[in-house]
Amino acid sequence: MIEQLSEGFFEIFEDGTFQKMDPARLDNVSEDTSLGKYSSALGIDPLLIQLSGKTIVIDPGLGWGLDHTSSYHDTSSVVTNLDIFEISPEDVDLVILSHLHYDHMAGCTYVDENQKTQATFPNARYLVHKEEFDYALTQTGTKYHSKGALYNLDEFYKLIAEKRVDFISQSIFSPLQGISLIKTGGHTPGHLIAKIIDEEEIFYFLGDLVPTEYHLNHYAMKQIDYDPVQTKKTKRFVLNNATEENATLFFYHSLFQKSGRISLNKKNQFTLSQPSSS
Ligand SMILES: [Zn+2]
Repeated sequence: MIEQLSEGFFEIFEDGTFQKMDPARLDNVSEDTSLGKYSSALGIDPLLIQLSGKTIVIDPGLGWGLDHTSSYHDTSSVVTNLDIFEISPEDVDLVILSHLHYDHMAGCTYVDENQKTQATFPNARYLVHKEEFDYALTQTGTKYHSKGALYNLDEFYKLIAEKRVDFISQSIFSPLQGISLIKTGGHTPGHLIAKIIDEEEIFYFLGDLVPTEYHLNHYAMKQIDYDPVQTKKTKRFVLNNATEENATLFFYHSLFQKSGRISLNKKNQFTLSQPSSS
């Protein structure tokens, strides 16, 4: 089983802060004077996989509403999303992190009623690439410099101290049968994507290598990517493979079409088909 989860829609401001956004605003983006000028809209869509008897979450999101102090308890979060599938946080075996930007990993932890940081998934191993962690260490404490490219490891250190985190050093690593984690770099030095093979069907979780369907054919991350040349090269390589494999792609930040298969049209552009109903 592979299911795309959703924390909903957010507005990210120039200082890197997030605010939940009314999705109705997407109906008339062109008339919305602040959106696009002072902020950008994005979705936050983690992935749930059940494979080989294990339950896996990729990029657990912002963790919106998980903290005891939050006033957003009735909002959708990775935990309320799992509940729909009758999965509790205790059931999750593995959490895979494409990279350590805040909007992909803050949901790894929450603050409980005693103001203590706790692992959101108390029985899970957390997987991240070693190069990503090493780079993130050099970035914490430095001033946030570009939209969305924020590291905040304060709560992640707790997971490391509790020995819940495993660091990957290989460029391709398979944590269990059917899942390969492929280091792409580009967006961040240790960025990785996941390739999932479930009963001969192939799926990709692309993280911020291709954050939305718009990014299939547009390169709009110049200000954010650590190594833009690497991003461009790897993106083309991965998308060409995914086309040949007739794979289903999952986008983490899409506003409109969040998944689908791709093909190349006559202008050599990728077009996205409607997702299959499986
Ligand atoms: Zn990112």
